[in-house]
Amino acid sequence: MVTRKHKFNNYTLDPIPKELWREAKSLPETKLGFCDECGFYHVDPYPSEDYLTDFYTSYEMPTPQQNLSETARLLAKNIDIKSKVIDVGCGDGSFLLEMNKLGFENLVGLDQSPGIERAMKLGFGDFSRKNLWEFLAESEESGGTNADAIVMVNVLEHVAEPLDLLERFYNIMPKDSLLTIAVPNDFSPLQNAFLKVKGHLPWFVHVPDHLNYFDFGTLKHALSASGFELIDQQALFPLELFLLQDLDYVKNPELGPIAHQRRVMFEDNMKAAGMTDVLDKFYEALAAGGFGRDAMVVARKK
Ligand SMILES: [Zn+2]
Repeated sequence: MVTRKHKFNNYTLDPIPKELWREAKSLPETKLGFCDECGFYHVDPYPSEDYLTDFYTSYEMPTPQQNLSETARLLAKNIDIKSKVIDVGCGDGSFLLEMNKLGFENLVGLDQSPGIERAMKLGFGDFSRKNLWEFLAESEESGGTNADAIVMVNVLEHVAEPLDLLERFYNIMPKDSLLTIAVPNDFSPLQNAFLKVKGHLPWFVHVPDHLNYFDFGTLKHALSASGFELIDQQALFPLELFLLQDLDYVKNPELGPIAHQRRVMFEDNMKAAGMTDVLDKFYEALAAGGFGRDAMVVARKK
């Protein structure tokens, strides 16, 4: 693989301050900025593979994957119910469980974390203990995968050189198959507004687990640079709205659960009203403006 050159005109964080290194030994030389070559924000330099392996063996990822039902509905409306869906990094199988509830049965899940044991007991699908690198290597060896859709929820922000990863997926996927990606929507307009008003550090920077910071525009660009065409997108609730209304959970973390509850209440009420379709439309409209805490997209291999 060719080594990618990275190009930063200036850095947003130089270096990344100690308090943004979560649960890990900080690498004092690491900076963060918008890379003109890649077209998104990422750390510079990327930590070594050894450092990352060490980090992930000593640190158990939290399970922040909320709103998997929203991601499942987004994918489901773009594919046939008989489609084969592979969730790469499926954790305990929660996303595929949502797909299964929607009537999908040809479901494959891969993960190396302990959650995979629980996934194997769900009673549907084909789960195995395997990481995404092993899956890629095997698929490259065998001449590709026959998946109709590959799913990566909260993966792309964690890996060094994500454009390389997207290209490898492009090479193993059948033409017209779909790639579904969910990432945090970072350096987004409302976050930027709050940063300007309050002068906080960018609280959404989490190193070393998050190495890349995408928004809707840069994610679309990364996909298209790797041979994928964006066909659908949806946001999740813009939590920054609470910050701009002075529910400052960055400064006062004890306010976090209140913000969370209000967001859940909003979604539950929409669903209770039988208006899940309107909720999806609302989040779709937010995505079109680049708003929302998370970005979910469906892209087709050209
Ligand atoms: Zn770069």
